[in-house]
Amino acid sequence: MPIIRVALPVPIPQLFDYTAEDALESDVGRCVRVPFGRGEKSGLIVGLPDAAEVDAARLKPVLHIQREVPPLPDDWLALVGFVARYYHAPLGEVVALALPPGLRRADGVSADDTDPLLEVAPAGRQVMADARRDSKALALLRECEEAGVSPLRRSVIRALPSGAAVGDAFRRGWLQLTVGNVPRHHTTGRPELTDEQATVIDQVLNAAPGFRPWLLQGVTGSGKTEVYLRLAEAMLAAGKQVLMLVPEIALTPQLEHRVAQRFPAANVISLHSALAEGARSRGFVQALSGHADIVLGTRLSVFAPLPRLGIILVDEEHDASYKQQEGVRYSARDVAVWRARQRGLPVVLGSATPSLETWQHARAERYGLLSLSRRAVASSLPKVRGVDTRRLKLDEGLSPALQAAIGERLERGEQSLVFLNRRGYAPVLSCPACGWISRCPHCSANLVVHLADRRLRCHHCGCDGPIPHACPSCGNQDIQPFGRGTQRIEARLIELFPQARVLRVDRDAARTRAQWEALLDTIAAGEADILVGTQMMAKGHDFPKLTLVGVIGADASLHAADFRAPERLFQQLMQVGGRAGRGALPGEVVIQTEYPGHPLFQHLARHDFDAFARMALDERKVASFPPFSYQAMLRADAPVLKDAVEFLQHARRLGEASAAAGLRLFDPVPMRLTRLARRERAQLLVEADERGLLQGFLLQWMKLLYAQRTSRELRWQIDVDPLDV
Ligand code: ADP
Ligand code: ZN
Ligand code: ZN
Repeated sequence: MPIIRVALPVPIPQLFDYTAEDALESDVGRCVRVPFGRGEKSGLIVGLPDAAEVDAARLKPVLHIQREVPPLPDDWLALVGFVARYYHAPLGEVVALALPPGLRRADGVSADDTDPLLEVAPAGRQVMADARRDSKALALLRECEEAGVSPLRRSVIRALPSGAAVGDAFRRGWLQLTVGNVPRHHTTGRPELTDEQATVIDQVLNAAPGFRPWLLQGVTGSGKTEVYLRLAEAMLAAGKQVLMLVPEIALTPQLEHRVAQRFPAANVISLHSALAEGARSRGFVQALSGHADIVLGTRLSVFAPLPRLGIILVDEEHDASYKQQEGVRYSARDVAVWRARQRGLPVVLGSATPSLETWQHARAERYGLLSLSRRAVASSLPKVRGVDTRRLKLDEGLSPALQAAIGERLERGEQSLVFLNRRGYAPVLSCPACGWISRCPHCSANLVVHLADRRLRCHHCGCDGPIPHACPSCGNQDIQPFGRGTQRIEARLIELFPQARVLRVDRDAARTRAQWEALLDTIAAGEADILVGTQMMAKGHDFPKLTLVGVIGADASLHAADFRAPERLFQQLMQVGGRAGRGALPGEVVIQTEYPGHPLFQHLARHDFDAFARMALDERKVASFPPFSYQAMLRADAPVLKDAVEFLQHARRLGEASAAAGLRLFDPVPMRLTRLARRERAQLLVEADERGLLQGFLLQWMKLLYAQRTSRELRWQIDVDPLDV
């Protein structure tokens, strides 16, 4: 009896064996349902071992093998295998993450409702060779072979004498979907390239074939998207597939429209977690079968199987949302680079403000550097002006200079954006009489005042309640919102500029994709004069009438504890500043700060990312922070802090025994937001001089940790290359 080895979504690094009487080698990479405990689970067949790891007599039979879609190919299995190894996650959990749930549950996904191309699968060939068998479906296979062309449209197969059996043959895995190669690529409405764009595209397309990572560093508005589109066009013309990653699909409907418009006949698939299950499964199968030409998606689309893949494009490669922050903590950008290496392909990482890791790779010439130093249409980058707020009286956080600048834009019929990365009305409600402040009952965080719907809300755990009329502690009626968020700025701007149309753009105003698109349309149509926005407004948008960006409240990040805080602040300010003056009108950025002489602002004023990067990297080198060292973070959480810390102390002792020179285990410390949703959290940093050293250590350490018996209340996870330290 054949044995199949299955990866199942369970939080332990283990595979499970089952028996399957009709299993073939070609079933590796197919989804299965199997009995598990008292229930059932879905997983993926990763091998057909000769012998089971446990007593073969105790193996249970598989319930169902999904044969309606082609198996995941070997290179895909290698990809999830790499992610499991590198991020030290159970393979079954990586598979569960990478596969759309509908597909993994093997609940009868049809690949395509159109007219797919089919060919005889290896399993079909095997049954054809077996002279003892006879069936309608088998007869159909023979007719397919006799037709002499492969692949065939399903409609053509249906018209064969035994065509009625096509569904049967497909379900048994005897026929499979195949790579479509229909000549159908034409493009519309493309602009003349700038010289810089043309050069950059030539560099990529004329490079020697094979793996080649590129950093496309182009100032905001330099036309990076156009470069992606031209590279995609060249790939489509060569019959290849394109994988294009974007940080947040909800924030990039503009890009999706642009791609679809440019390639009207291409099959453009978008893949992201907000899709309905059926659509996600269908898109995935189209990618797998080669029917999709362009896959555009958020981080999880890095797992789309793409048999004809020609290039990977990663837009805004510095964006933190490429790193998954729970479950399997992978970086889609880094996985994209690994995948390009595996498949021997170019990968282009684009940004105006690259991550320092990527920038350093380019500087060390491990990555090729593609630069776009000028804007594609606007004549120049915006002028950046610091407003020293130390001796100024601010009106709800707004300086006279910023108000005057907004007033000028109003007179000229242009748009302004006030950028403040804090939503809500005020970050806390407090009682001046007794000192009470609005604390979240479940987290070590304050409840944020949301005046728009009169709620106090925790931005960490989401719990909320009504705003009290009096102090819950002393009964004082005069309780005050303290500090400022977007709603408060919005309210003040409405008072200051009664004639203006003020529009707030944050996650509260754009909860759904439809709301977000409606806001974007309103802005693009020029139906708003003053925008108040969070970092949602910083990403990739193009509003020709927006000529002023005012930044308030940025100073807090200058002194944050995280060593990546300055990098993030610079990126954010350069990105949001880059929204100004992208059309024909010149732009201006006004930054309110108490530290106008800070080098970060100086580099920003000169639009000199490279100078900033050199400075920041020098600091990191001295402190031996990444990219000059390699980190992993072990985090633990429990209802009481002591349990989490004790587990980490124990883990540290276990690790110390095998820690080689060049590897450091730090003391466990409570996390900055110690309490989250009633759980107390602590972390332990591991740092190594070399990546290989870290990986070797983690391999041994994880084995030890998985072998520990811990209380049911305690949870722990490992985060390789953590972003928040
Ligand atoms: P980036 O992604 O680098 O910030 P975009 O790709 O969004 O920049 O381009 C900025 C603007 O310039 C867009 O409106 C785009 O349509 C336009 N653009 C880009 N390349 C060209 C070109 N070669 N000719 C004319 N307009 C262009
Ligand atoms: Zn009080
Ligand atoms: Zn909370």
